[in-house]
Amino acid sequence: MKVEIDQDAGFCFGVQKTIEQAEKELLKEGKIYCLGEIVHNDEEIHRLKTKGLITIGYEEFRNLKNTRVLIRAHGEPPETYEIAKQNNIQLIDTTCPIVSRLQNRIKTCYDEILDENGQIVIFGKVGHPEVVGLIGQTNGRAMAVSIEADLDQIDFTKPIYLYSQTTRSKKGFKQIKEEITRRLKAAGNQDTLYLMAHQTICGQVSNREPNLIDFAKKHDAILFASGKKSSNGKMLYEICKRENPNSYFISSADDVETDMIKNCKTVGVSGATSTPSWLLQDVANKVSSLLH
Ligand code: SF4
Repeated sequence: MKVEIDQDAGFCFGVQKTIEQAEKELLKEGKIYCLGEIVHNDEEIHRLKTKGLITIGYEEFRNLKNTRVLIRAHGEPPETYEIAKQNNIQLIDTTCPIVSRLQNRIKTCYDEILDENGQIVIFGKVGHPEVVGLIGQTNGRAMAVSIEADLDQIDFTKPIYLYSQTTRSKKGFKQIKEEITRRLKAAGNQDTLYLMAHQTICGQVSNREPNLIDFAKKHDAILFASGKKSSNGKMLYEICKRENPNSYFISSADDVETDMIKNCKTVGVSGATSTPSWLLQDVANKVSSLLH
């Protein structure tokens, strides 16, 4: 049996930069606070925890003073920076540059449309940290939508400025955009005047789609390793499952079972942009060990 690790899987450059910075701080200081989970992967969080990384929530953050806190690749709303300033907290800001650019775009758009009653709509998961950071650029006025039913909160008689969370699927964005267009027409408005759609999905995720389809098709089974909370992990796994029904979502090498790879000549190991390469290698090693 052949086991192949998907060469495109593993940390994207945004997450890579965050992890490298955290490791650097840990080496220097011995401990560092991180606001929210550094990456949507429990195994990696655990590894960094043993080195001194302390994950904190917003309540704890508000009560901290005179210390250093790491901001992860997802970015944060302006409120976080204000609290840090008030509490003399030095932020180690590792917001991904792609997310920062998107935050700035949304802020500029919000400032420009204040007088024209426009609405900013973000195609993204409600409550996802990146989405919270994006909505924060609009004083909480932007709306997050992830399914068609969420569109009910939009006023289709007013202009709509549509953006996307960076890790959503292109297909999902297209569907939401088409449904908005349909509802605008039903409300008697021309989509070209009333809908300004900006597909802001990160290439590090969307560019993986074609290669992942080929990868999923060419193997008898796919083991897809990802944290359960990873948006891109869920999306990329669904692509695998669609192309190869013999695909399994796993969190670690411990989840690999003999039945998953039974009668397979080739097994592919893939993962999200938040899955560390060491974990992909662990899964591949487990597959090899089950063969002996
Ligand atoms: S997926 Fe893209 S936008 Fe998100 S952290 Fe990675 S590089 Fe940055």
